[in-house]
Amino acid sequence: MMRAYDIIYKKREGQKLNKEELKFLINGYVEGEIPDYQMSAWSMAVYFQGMDAEETANLTMLMAESGDMIDLSPIDGIKVDKHSTGGVGDTTTLVLAPLVASAGIPVAKMSGRGLGHTGGTIDKLESIPNFNTSLSRDKFFDNVNQHGVAVVGQTGNLTPADKKLYALRDVTATVESIPLIASSIMSKKLAGGADAIILDVKTGNGAFMKSFDNAKKLAEAMVAIGKEVGRDTAAYITDMNQPLGNAVGNALEVKEAIKTLKGEGPEDLTELCIELGAGMLQLAGKAANLETGKMILRKNLKNGKGLDKFAEMITAQGGNAKVVEDISLLPTADSTVEVKAEKAGYVAEIKALDVGLSAMILGAGRENKESKIDLAVGLELKKKTSDQISKGDTLAVLHYNDSKNLDEAKKKLLNAFTITEEQKKKNQLIYEIIK
Ligand code: URA
Ligand code: CA
Repeated sequence: MMRAYDIIYKKREGQKLNKEELKFLINGYVEGEIPDYQMSAWSMAVYFQGMDAEETANLTMLMAESGDMIDLSPIDGIKVDKHSTGGVGDTTTLVLAPLVASAGIPVAKMSGRGLGHTGGTIDKLESIPNFNTSLSRDKFFDNVNQHGVAVVGQTGNLTPADKKLYALRDVTATVESIPLIASSIMSKKLAGGADAIILDVKTGNGAFMKSFDNAKKLAEAMVAIGKEVGRDTAAYITDMNQPLGNAVGNALEVKEAIKTLKGEGPEDLTELCIELGAGMLQLAGKAANLETGKMILRKNLKNGKGLDKFAEMITAQGGNAKVVEDISLLPTADSTVEVKAEKAGYVAEIKALDVGLSAMILGAGRENKESKIDLAVGLELKKKTSDQISKGDTLAVLHYNDSKNLDEAKKKLLNAFTITEEQKKKNQLIYEIIK
């Protein structure tokens, strides 16, 4: 008979667990037969001893199969999903989904809501009047088949093993284990039914993985899982030493996405969308190489096809597509205030965490799962890394409805900026592509 004790012992001693042992643990944990304290001990053993690629892939599949596995086969074509390890003001999905759909690859995207300093695509889309993010499964598939794109909230019972294990790791200091993070993220992608996966692994002060080396290890672990389970996976290691783009906040980010789809968006956001999008086109077999993919996407920003696709998606999900021509139809805050530089110099870095917290304090983000958010509020950065500033220059504009926490939000925003006498080189946007 198998016993959790023996499996924990084996991992503690640095041995490899086989599929049956992992299955016993994961299924037993989900069913409540294995208690939290044994899973905690096992997680800590994995934290110290690690897991090899095959072990990690087995764990990933078991977690994926612990709940519903979405079957995207009613949708024609190769379905490529994109996942970001999290950032602040990460507007990429809003741009990428319609943009790559306009190049002819099906985008069946399930997204989440924001929590804490990070935003969620579903909240952002809900700032579009009447936009429906909770389509039935059939309607979701129909929309993708007819319009090439749909973005909906998660439904059903996806990866309950990960939900339970992630919450346990969170309180037992075992989150920061590469195989556990890699399996957690990839299990959700596999359960979501993607044929191929593009991963945006952020690195820098505002990222989950602060150092490049750790980001690279995580990227390699996830790509290895993809290989083991037969889903084409590529990981982009990208910069998060400052927020991406300029807008942080729900309606503000939709406005930024519309600008970007018109070819008038911030350079970093635009470039990252082109790069990740080209990776998606390549995995879907729509571009022979990345250069061709980038060319197609740049063209579709120029000729308006990406924007048209966004409008089509909005209409198909019940929303008011006039917002793409008239952004004043989106929620707008009553008041704005400029945050000004207290000294001259150059912007060395912008701590994304503080920027995210500033927006959250204004009401753009949830402090806890029950908090209500204000879709109109947030902030716009007016300076980015390596920009020169004089004392009194505007660093950012805060958009607010309630002045109660305004001073705190201003303070956080000021604290986000590191200003130095010497000019720091602009960060590279993409450090490496792993595949
Ligand atoms: N994000 C996840 O989804 N899982 C982890 O374990 C860490 C970050
Ligand atoms: Ca942004």
